[in-house]
Amino acid sequence: MEGSRGNLYFFNTLTRKKERFVPLEKGKVKMYTCGPTVYDYAHIGNFRAFVFEDLLRRWLKYRGFRVVQVMNITDVDDKTIRASRKKGVSLKEYTEYYTKAFFEDIAALNIEKAEFYPRATEHIPEMVALIKKLLEKGYAYRGEDGSIYYAISKFKDYGKLSKIRVEELKPGARVKVDEYGKEEAWDFALWKAWDEDDGDVFWETELGKGRPGWHIECSAMAMKYLGETLDIHCGGVDNMFPHHENEIAQSEAATGKRFVNYWLHNEHLLVEGKRMAKRFGNYYTLRDLIKMGYDPTAVRYLLMSTHYRQQLNFTFEGLEAAKGAVERLRNFVRRLLDADGKGSGGKVEVLVEQVKRGFEEAMDDDLNISVALAALFDFVRDVNRLMDENAVSREEAEEVYGLMMRFDKVLGVIGEVRREERLPKEAEELIRRREEARRAKDWETADRIRAQLRSMGIIVEDTPEGVKWRFEKQ
Ligand SMILES: [Zn+2]
Repeated sequence: MEGSRGNLYFFNTLTRKKERFVPLEKGKVKMYTCGPTVYDYAHIGNFRAFVFEDLLRRWLKYRGFRVVQVMNITDVDDKTIRASRKKGVSLKEYTEYYTKAFFEDIAALNIEKAEFYPRATEHIPEMVALIKKLLEKGYAYRGEDGSIYYAISKFKDYGKLSKIRVEELKPGARVKVDEYGKEEAWDFALWKAWDEDDGDVFWETELGKGRPGWHIECSAMAMKYLGETLDIHCGGVDNMFPHHENEIAQSEAATGKRFVNYWLHNEHLLVEGKRMAKRFGNYYTLRDLIKMGYDPTAVRYLLMSTHYRQQLNFTFEGLEAAKGAVERLRNFVRRLLDADGKGSGGKVEVLVEQVKRGFEEAMDDDLNISVALAALFDFVRDVNRLMDENAVSREEAEEVYGLMMRFDKVLGVIGEVRREERLPKEAEELIRRREEARRAKDWETADRIRAQLRSMGIIVEDTPEGVKWRFEKQ
């Protein structure tokens, strides 16, 4: 769009540098984003990652790219098995519930749908094939417990993403659990031989009776839907090690090709300055915030408005401010609908050019949302001032409206804004007269006026809080 495609810059974790984004195929972006582990409701820290990825996706589309995004659903791993067994229901029944909740939550946050949401349990054959390849190539071995492990000493690039040091690794030091210490590199499980803790969760495969490790799930599903090399892989900084490091090791050892060209990681979310944890009493899901009366759009705005590579300190004060910011944008757009002034003499045009440049340059620079939003709010302030002077013509207002809608394709917070609904003068008068009649207990007149309003498409209801009216739905 506007010839600027190709001028996007992203900070690539792999090189620790801002790099110009060049996709593998012109005009198309193949993007993988680690999805939820569906053992519980996702929390706002999880949603920070998903909102950042949504902003990235929307910006790529704004810049004219066709985006193919894959987000996996981890519906089998240590946590889902443990939780479903504790609850005494089947793994499928358990994970279905939280998968559905996840889709409800991302819809509430106005997160665009990815093109693919593959479930781990539906891709066991792909994982088995990948593990077999790693065994054949000598990158994997069977441990004495029957599980199959990845031999990280065989992969010379191990540690290139997270920069973890592997030289102190003791040969044969292994870990079977999916999540392990951030400080140490271990041979990790690709295929876990069944044990009692797995209950009825297992697959009978060429590799034996068991289930996949968490890390292999992402490699297998990413490559199935996007090919052996992807443009972009995102996730929270938490997942850089071991998860993403292991994804690289698995994929590159199997294919001999580079797995991902650009790795983008979002920083942590803190709550009131502290790490979020249930035991600190500062742990929130989106549902918690909605129950407290907050609009998910304000939550989206708050999660989005701090640059993704900065720590975000979530506070309720910040959430109130986010709500105010969204309202400011909506009120501005609502006001544009009614603007019909004398014309600004070219001032609006200059402001439009300015904000477009400011917003776009900032977003092209590694999604610098704070700078982009600052440019946008300067613009809102300046056009508001012109509207105060009745200096914005209908045509100018329409142009600004169109631009705001284009920006909102990226931000996703304004949505559909309608004119404030107002009663025609005549109807106001009728409602007033009906009230008088009711006070005088003249029910006949009151009913007649109600019918008259109804014929105008206005429904009147008498409620304990007084008279309410609404327009009849078309
Ligand atoms: Zn993943």
